[in-house]
Amino acid sequence: MKSSAAAKASAVMPSRRRVEGWSCSPAVNMTEKKSLLAASSALCALKRTSSTTSVTSHSCSSRRSSSNLRSTRCSCERAATSGEAGPFRDIYAPPHEQLSREPLQEEEDEEEIQMKTVRVAVVGAGVVGVSTAVCIAEALPLCSVTLIADRFSPDTTSDGAAGILFAAEFPDVPIATQRRWFRSSFRHLLAIAQSEEAPEAGVTLSSGWQIFKELPETPKPFWWDLVIGFRAMTSGELRRFPGHACGQFFTTLKCECRSYLPWLQRRFRGAGGRVERRRVGSLQELGGDFDLLVNCSGLGSRALLGDMQVEPVRGQVLQVEAPWLQHFIRDGDGKTYIYPGVRSVTIGGTRQAGDWRLGEDQTDTEGIVERCRRLEPSLSRAKVLGCWVGLRPGRRNPRVEKELLQLGGRRVPVVHNYGHGGWGVTLAWGTAVDAVELVRQSLQETPPRSKL
Ligand SMILES: Cc1cc2nc3c(=O)[nH]c(=O)nc-3n(C[C@H](O)[C@H](O)[C@H](O)COP(=O)(O)OP(=O)(O)OC[C@H]3O[C@@H](n4cnc5c(N)ncnc54)[C@H](O)[C@@H]3O)c2cc1C
Repeated sequence: MKSSAAAKASAVMPSRRRVEGWSCSPAVNMTEKKSLLAASSALCALKRTSSTTSVTSHSCSSRRSSSNLRSTRCSCERAATSGEAGPFRDIYAPPHEQLSREPLQEEEDEEEIQMKTVRVAVVGAGVVGVSTAVCIAEALPLCSVTLIADRFSPDTTSDGAAGILFAAEFPDVPIATQRRWFRSSFRHLLAIAQSEEAPEAGVTLSSGWQIFKELPETPKPFWWDLVIGFRAMTSGELRRFPGHACGQFFTTLKCECRSYLPWLQRRFRGAGGRVERRRVGSLQELGGDFDLLVNCSGLGSRALLGDMQVEPVRGQVLQVEAPWLQHFIRDGDGKTYIYPGVRSVTIGGTRQAGDWRLGEDQTDTEGIVERCRRLEPSLSRAKVLGCWVGLRPGRRNPRVEKELLQLGGRRVPVVHNYGHGGWGVTLAWGTAVDAVELVRQSLQETPPRSKL
């Protein structure tokens, strides 16, 4: 039986069926819609071509009773035939007209239909893993998605992040891609912030200043026009921050993962997703049980894959009680910031590459308090509520790509989505949407073994 929270969640969250129609989710914009619908259409196409029985059962309808099968078309068919999937239709969608002439096998019962589901494991339950799991479960109805991790909210790195939407540039990722990731995340979270879900999901608008001691190399960040009301600070505003030469004022979003991750996990379960707590020693362990793996293990990818490019970037922050503070202040060097949140204000911080220490460093604490008080003297009245240390999954560039691995005697597609450094909350939804596309491509290139 569902708890009242879960019941409430399933009432308001888009279930798999509701997302198929793409009408109820506040979190999916038109661009995402098109890309996810294309993925959904493609997977249905794939199932039809990879197994003749799946053509007749068209197992997108695994949730329907067999009597419904004859009369109901799945959403990907509806989208493709209505032209909603736009240009994707010609590329991916099969001729549905032909399909409709084929007889349906009513004797196929629910159990058989379940067996034709593509089994996908997403490893990692931080903000990147849960976002990716939700996107796959909602966009690809044929996938049965299992989220596997040894740590879930509130014990992931993502849970302690201030969660301000902001990003520095990755050196080798095209700016157009980085803008797409940022835009997609921003739109997704803005829709939540402007819905009745906002308090439960922990997503709010947040305005404030980014200030610089010297003129920055690039006068505007690549996302300047994707946030709201970005402008240069006036000289009057700058007088508040002695020693600073210039600054920017804008409104962005703050996504507090201690609320957001449980909210997103309920949405995942609402879409039919399963959750398993377990440490994965090697991807080989999963090769036999799943048709496709998605690796969102963050810093864990260092041990899991032996990717030595991922390294910890230690961050220490303090939570303080200062309810009078409403605006964020961020020094452009990225080391000193004050981010007011729903329950407390996060002040920070540190960026210590290669440092694995998870305990509080007293010298860091004193440095944070001293630097933040210089920016906002009223903090001398604030009560310190706690200290938190997290290890960012630092990498020169995030890894969002697919490969085929030989696991347990067969070739299994693996999609990677990790290494977001200090910007995982900001970019998680955007890279998750790209990961869904990679999942779809992988399944087209390497159809899963028939289990019938
Ligand atoms: C102090 C601090 C402040 C930050 N502030 C911001 C901010 O304001 N804005 C922003 O965008 N970002 C911020 N970040 C960065 C952000 O926290 C990270 O980019 C983000 O949390 C990365 O998410 P993730 O899901 O990749 O990793 P994680 O949250 O670390 O999750 C990794 C998951 O993988 C699982 N896992 C790993 N290995 C295995 C294994 N072998 N078997 C099973 N499970 C495994 C873990 O259990 C966990 O569930 C901040 C980080 C820090 C430290």
